[in-house]
Amino acid sequence: MKKKIVALLVAFTFFLTACSSTKEVEEKPILLQGAMDVEVETMTNALEEKEELHLGKYIYYKGTIDDYPVIVSKTNVGIANSAASTTLAIEEFDPMIIINQGTAGGHDPELHRMDVVVGEHILNMGAFKTDFQAEGEGVDPAAFELRETEVLTKGKGQATEVQEFTSDETLMELAMEMQDSYTAGHVVKGTIGTADEWNNQLDRIDILHTKLGTSAEEMESAAVAQMAYNYSIPYLGIRVLSNTAVHDEDFEPQSAVDLQEYVVEIVKAYISEQK
Ligand code: SAH
Repeated sequence: MKKKIVALLVAFTFFLTACSSTKEVEEKPILLQGAMDVEVETMTNALEEKEELHLGKYIYYKGTIDDYPVIVSKTNVGIANSAASTTLAIEEFDPMIIINQGTAGGHDPELHRMDVVVGEHILNMGAFKTDFQAEGEGVDPAAFELRETEVLTKGKGQATEVQEFTSDETLMELAMEMQDSYTAGHVVKGTIGTADEWNNQLDRIDILHTKLGTSAEEMESAAVAQMAYNYSIPYLGIRVLSNTAVHDEDFEPQSAVDLQEYVVEIVKAYISEQK
């Protein structure tokens, strides 16, 4: 009799554990990122039941949008910061999807300040190998090839190489479907170039645009995509042109606000599809 009771209790405990883990799987949070305060404030304000958390040196805001768990993360600026804060967040929160968004500088002459680039291609623009040039031959800024980036998709320390990153097809299509909710400029699919660089030389921007096809440049997307690839988490890179040297259009902070409002609409549409 006692044995039966014990067996029943064990079975019941297993049942409860199974229920709670199923719930966790269903409720993996959405991770939304921006590098600077102005790039996270609007998304953070959209959170209900908000709570500030820290992992290492990085700040995260945990809450809900339409009753679905969402983490807004301030990655801070640049490749190293955004990769570190993304990895910490992935290990801690096991997100369902990652959306990296924020401001960028224009490369494509067809694009103007306030236009949005949905990252169909995302390149680590600062990872390159130059062609050989002998002493005294000078420096040709166009004589380089992009280097592959290592991703650890196979297992711990097991690297494969990729030429570029892409956003998740479904998330990209959702962003395009929701484009009417963005009224401050055009929304296009394009190529985001990432590097710890801020380029203002028009000839250099032209080389990057013609050689690599970059629509815009910024400092985080490829680093975050690389971490998302490591863990096979669907990723969307989406950027607003806050400035473009190509048209002598200076940094406009309102672009960061408008993009976040659009991203919140994309997130709401994503959540309603999950229900
Ligand atoms: N205080 C730092 C950077 C601030 S702006 C400095 O002075 O260098 C850089 C941030 O804005 C980065 O997060 C980057 O992703 C984005 N960004 C906006 N426009 C950019 C541009 N033209 N080139 C590179 N990054 C840009």
